[in-house]
Amino acid sequence: MIATADSAEKTIISYNPATGEEVGRVRISSAEDVQKAVTLSRAASREWRQTSFAARRDLMMRAREVILAEVDEIAHLILRESGKPFGEAIAMEIAPVLDLMQYFARNTEKLLKPAKIGIGLYALMGRSSKIIYQPLGVVGIIPAWNYPFSIPLGEAVMALMAGNTVVIKPSELTPLVGVKIRDIFEKAGFPQNAVQVVTGDGSTGAALVEAAPDKIMFTGSVATGKKIAAAAAKNLTSVVLELGGKDPMIVFADANLELAARAAVWGAFCNSGQSCSSVERLYVQESVAAELTRKIVEKTKRLKQGFGDREDVSVGAMSSERQIKIVEDHVEDFRASGAKIEIGGRRNPEFEGLFYEPTVITNANNDMRAMQEETFGPTLPIATFSTEEEAIRLANDSEFGLTASVWTRDRAKGERVARQIEAGSVCINEVLYTHGIGQTPWGGFKNSGLGRTHGREGLMELVQPQHIHINKLALLPDAWWMPYSATAVETFRGFATKFASGSLLKTTTLMPQLLKRIRELLKR
Ligand code: NDP
Repeated sequence: MIATADSAEKTIISYNPATGEEVGRVRISSAEDVQKAVTLSRAASREWRQTSFAARRDLMMRAREVILAEVDEIAHLILRESGKPFGEAIAMEIAPVLDLMQYFARNTEKLLKPAKIGIGLYALMGRSSKIIYQPLGVVGIIPAWNYPFSIPLGEAVMALMAGNTVVIKPSELTPLVGVKIRDIFEKAGFPQNAVQVVTGDGSTGAALVEAAPDKIMFTGSVATGKKIAAAAAKNLTSVVLELGGKDPMIVFADANLELAARAAVWGAFCNSGQSCSSVERLYVQESVAAELTRKIVEKTKRLKQGFGDREDVSVGAMSSERQIKIVEDHVEDFRASGAKIEIGGRRNPEFEGLFYEPTVITNANNDMRAMQEETFGPTLPIATFSTEEEAIRLANDSEFGLTASVWTRDRAKGERVARQIEAGSVCINEVLYTHGIGQTPWGGFKNSGLGRTHGREGLMELVQPQHIHINKLALLPDAWWMPYSATAVETFRGFATKFASGSLLKTTTLMPQLLKRIRELLKR
């Protein structure tokens, strides 16, 4: 593992996975530190929830300014802790989160506007209902290391705009990016303890769950997600789980193959394949398989791999030795089970750091273990199909369901197929990038997760709906109140057969019985 926890000194040392150089050190927060952070956060949340949306918006826009003033510095920090190219740190982390910030700064009030609810015939009794959205309190954020800036920051922005305070536990591989997030909010002038960062390893994350925040936003593996859900259940803390993927890309013969090949290369190899929505399985219609493969291999050959600070580098280092070993294991599984490595298939011998060559594999099929388990590395296995039904069946043959893409010039077919794919987001003639659209919900079907981040659906995870019900004619007792009697029972029968039909006409015939019951109640 590149980042090591030195328990004697109670520090985590963060290393650059491309060079092995130390990037910096952070303290390991103890369970007591974490509990204290949640307690302080809860106290801060009482004031923060009273702030107006306008005040929150102004602070958030200031935080954007802080980031804009430091784009290069932040991108360098991201690349040093994660190994990804400088350009990718800007394009895939900083730019999307800046967009998310302005969107939620400007629109949260509108998205959380109290909503009047139609309550049918109850309205005729002078009642009205509305939903208002209350903040939860403290939101605990536990992200993975692959997008160490945009994922926790985006979640923090949404939580804060909704009136919550946050405690973030960054991955032990990228703790300094986590600390940077706290500094940004501090510089922007957010109140003390509105945004706190506790640093450490998995046990610090576990301590954050134990400390009973009001919500846990978790991004990571299925195995850890299940542990967190179980631990959170003890305090009835609700969780959003953004977990793994094995995302399929389906290319039909009528697709723009040049574009599909470029998309496959980017979708499989950006961030060295360490994206939950990476293309991990490509299914191409038999008649164009050879042509698409040739194009993909040619484009892969032209990719420059190297240190992220060089602007012409497209593929950087992987984040950890553990991750690169999974890639090696999967490539070995492909080899052993009869697939063909067209290009790549090894650590890059030019470097000592954690560089795995972009790898294109043909003759893959769903019976291979590596076509079922998440790889999270720069591999692009290609399999073929003949019919639309087969493509859908192969794409759905997975425990995961995060994203998918369908490539065809026939938009009706694209949408028909998309609707049958079991995944939280399906793109037609696009790939991977929709996490970057803050306006749209993000989350998985099946083992890819629970709940949503982003979009209105994601915002709803960060508030609790409160129903406010008003009786505007509060002069008479309700017919269903005590004491009961034979008249009451007769009236209740009428409720069941007439009022509950939803028909105004039928309900009108209940009026004499209702008046009888009310008169009875007024006498008692
Ligand atoms: P892990 O599940 O190992 O870790 C995720 C986070 O949880 C880290 O911060 C980790 O800390 C922390 N953690 C570990 N153990 C515990 C515990 N018992 N209690 C609380 N927190 C804990 O995932 P990876 O870091 O390996 O991330 C890769 C996974 O993330 C992939 O499966 C990927 O698909 C998924 N992912 C999903 C996304 C989505 O949106 N659906 C987006 C990005 C990634 P530490 O690192 O310090 O051990």
